[in-house]
Amino acid sequence: MATDYYAVLGVRRDASQDEIKKAFRRLARELHPDVNPDPKTQERFKEINAAYEVLSDPQKKQVYDLGGDPLSANGGGGGAGGFGAGGFGNFSDIMDAFFGTASQRGPRSRTRRGQDAMIRLEIDLAEAAFGTTKDIQVDTAVVCNTCSGEGAAPGTSAQTCDMCRGRGEVSQVTRSFLGQVMTSRPCPQCQGFGTVVPTPCPECAGDGRIRSRRTLTVKIPAGVDNGTRIQLAGEGEVGPGGGPPGDLYVEIHELPHSVFQRRGDDLHCTVTIPMTAAALGTKCPLETLDGVEEIDIRPGTQSGQSVPLHGRGITHLRGGGRGDLIVHVEVMTPSKLDAEQERLLRELSKLRGEERPLGQFQPGQQGLFSRLKDAFNGR
Ligand SMILES: [Zn+2]
Ligand SMILES: [Zn+2]
Repeated sequence: MATDYYAVLGVRRDASQDEIKKAFRRLARELHPDVNPDPKTQERFKEINAAYEVLSDPQKKQVYDLGGDPLSANGGGGGAGGFGAGGFGNFSDIMDAFFGTASQRGPRSRTRRGQDAMIRLEIDLAEAAFGTTKDIQVDTAVVCNTCSGEGAAPGTSAQTCDMCRGRGEVSQVTRSFLGQVMTSRPCPQCQGFGTVVPTPCPECAGDGRIRSRRTLTVKIPAGVDNGTRIQLAGEGEVGPGGGPPGDLYVEIHELPHSVFQRRGDDLHCTVTIPMTAAALGTKCPLETLDGVEEIDIRPGTQSGQSVPLHGRGITHLRGGGRGDLIVHVEVMTPSKLDAEQERLLRELSKLRGEERPLGQFQPGQQGLFSRLKDAFNGR
């Protein structure tokens, strides 16, 4: 957030575009992953790219100088951004840094591909288990109807730039100890587009796109998990000049369930039963994702044992079939016995010869060991 892009490039705050470009090229040569593959250097390389992306673009630079961060603030509505333009937006500048070419670009197009956008979508456990269809509100840039993306007010049109005569760049001959050197730079009057729009469209201020809210119906497949992203091709931001739209990503956030905890495609829950029920066996009704089912607690069930309900979990996202629902049993020892209950329990303990039990001691996690033992004994 508080990245100091000027410091990243090692330039003063009042540095000219030329100085910024030179600093970037010098660092890009030094830190390019092909030259210097270690991860720390690559981090730095990303930083200088981000810094250059902002400081080389007059609009972004202005936003940044006013205290904003155009790399995190721009782009999509509703927590979008993050995607797209970032990284290698200035690839040609990197190439320049390597080959020192005054690359022959010609006028650049006003039309560029739009950014990807992302939207969060909350769903509940049952929706994740079985899939669902949701209407979502998306707030993205769409093509401006008034100018059809051209950016010019109705009845007017873009005109060839008279400074560069439509070339998009201006050349300059300078003398140096190497002799005459011809340098080219983007035309300052048309920002390299080769055309100027004398009367920008009043609707979109010449950008060729406007923000608009629309409703999209999204099909959520069964088995999605927290963080799953669903890609909707071409539903992202329309680009500058009415350029082709980016993609929209719908990121799934699964709301916690009051009873079930999800681990992979299995669901877990705990049922607490009284000691007598554990000894005698019982049936407990449980509201599963598929409706009410009876959980069969066998006589002699120990605390820590579990009862699996096969195929009552989450649908596997790939390959079909479903995970299990595993009910963990916790046995509650009675406390606060009244006189009659205590008498009965003492009688029971006498009958079972358990008045002064020696106990069985085992190392470590007793629950785990007894469960392993049960497994070996085939219980
Ligand atoms: Zn317009
Ligand atoms: Zn020009």
